[in-house]
Amino acid sequence: MSFIAISQSFDDVEIKATALTEDIFMLEGAGGNMALYVGDEDVFLIDDQFAELSTKILYAIDSLSGGKSIKYVCNTHWHGDHTGGNENLSKQGATIIAHTNVYERMSTRQFRGMGRFQEASPPAALPDLSFDDQMTIHIDTLEKVHLQHVHNAHTDGDVLIFFKEHNVLHMGDIFFHKRYPFIDLNSNGQIIGYINAVEKGLALADNNTQIIPGHGPLATKEDLYAYHAMLTDITFKVNKRKAAGEDLITIQEAGITVDYDEEYTWNFIDSDTFISFIYNSLPE
Ligand SMILES: [Zn+2]
Repeated sequence: MSFIAISQSFDDVEIKATALTEDIFMLEGAGGNMALYVGDEDVFLIDDQFAELSTKILYAIDSLSGGKSIKYVCNTHWHGDHTGGNENLSKQGATIIAHTNVYERMSTRQFRGMGRFQEASPPAALPDLSFDDQMTIHIDTLEKVHLQHVHNAHTDGDVLIFFKEHNVLHMGDIFFHKRYPFIDLNSNGQIIGYINAVEKGLALADNNTQIIPGHGPLATKEDLYAYHAMLTDITFKVNKRKAAGEDLITIQEAGITVDYDEEYTWNFIDSDTFISFIYNSLPE
């Protein structure tokens, strides 16, 4: 997600921390869900929401970690509700890590659709380290954090982040739990890559994995299976109708999402919008 209104007020936002293990916390405020790993020496943060929340996020991290400094921040993708705090955290000494395409998109002006653009981010907000396929971060001797790029899914710079020892998986916006997903076609996202990425997440997880979605509540592998079933069912139906020559509006009016709408419609993505992402990104 990234089109949450920039003008939204952050005054009332509180940072909520949920302990998933002794060392790993899910942090929620406004924007994409964050994960915090408190290591022996220092801490590692996944995503950092909006710049306006950095003070509150830093305060929460300080209390949870007993004052340890943030060594690394990893962005799951380039959208502003996941990277907005980069500049502030970088100034606190954190090293920012992300996929190569996150660097590319944040360092240049981006077309966001419907005539809107996003200006390039200041140099301090850009990733210090970028990678193409995968990376392992050794926080301390206990945990190897595995970063796995998934191709052309929500964007073209998504990563899944897996704490293998602690069995916690952060999916970024490859998982909108109980919500229809936003697929950023302007950033080379597409439905087939998105479904493939969800399957990568399913392959990493087992029945005890705690799964942090980019948006929505903490989840299990069973929840991710249900999400995958919804995605594949609707995509199959759109594909069949598109192949038969139906146009987008006809498909949107065909009622193919009726079994899912109550559970998955939310204020940013309704079924018509989700169907349009599928229709417009299926291969011809
Ligand atoms: Zn996003």
